Amino acid sequence: MTQTFAIDIGGPASIPLTGADSTFPINRIFCVGRNYAAHAREMGANPDREPPFFFSKPADAVLTGSTCTMPYPPMTHDMHHEVELVIGLKKGGRDIAPDDALSHIYGVALGLDFTRRDMQAEAKKTGRPWDMSKGFDASAIIGEMLPVMGQDVPQTGTIALSVNDVLAQKGDLSDMIWSIPEVIAELSRYLTLRPGDLIFTGTPEGVGPVVKGDVLKASLEGVPDLTVLIA
Ligand code: MN
Repeated sequence: MTQTFAIDIGGPASIPLTGADSTFPINRIFCVGRNYAAHAREMGANPDREPPFFFSKPADAVLTGSTCTMPYPPMTHDMHHEVELVIGLKKGGRDIAPDDALSHIYGVALGLDFTRRDMQAEAKKTGRPWDMSKGFDASAIIGEMLPVMGQDVPQTGTIALSVNDVLAQKGDLSDMIWSIPEVIAELSRYLTLRPGDLIFTGTPEGVGPVVKGDVLKASLEGVPDLTVLIA
């Protein structure tokens, strides 16, 4: 018997793929905090190699595509950009070994982890959760996804973000405190990863506020560019 639902809530959100007619369905969205030492320092945190920490965003808090128009969200006057490499998993698992982690990846994309920095600062101060400062509508912007196999997953290269053609963020993927295989392995100790899960792998230094009318351009060699207009 076919399952029928009482109400229609739509299908999963998905990401356009380079060179394919199909799209990548989004299961869950996980994010790594402070994975570049220079960004940890600019946030006033310890840049030493402490175990990574994770937070998540709702799977439908996304805008996807090479060019996105993001409405400036309510309840903040200090929304910050964080440019990040996003990885999409084709295979899940628990306690994944770092040596085996790259084989779980379907593809990579550029992403922006938008943050209500004023609300997050208040949450840090009062010991409250980050959900509303990190997981609001359109807070996870994801460009076109490039399918990649194993060792072809980029682990070096300059990731950058310009705001109105002025360079704002710049770092090298090799500067990650926890590498991509280590991030997958560590996250899989907390929970069972599943196909369609996405991981935002952390942002380099230079995060800052955006205002209506700003045009953000994210780049990483070999990965499709991402342009975001704040409206
Ligand atoms: Mn982030």
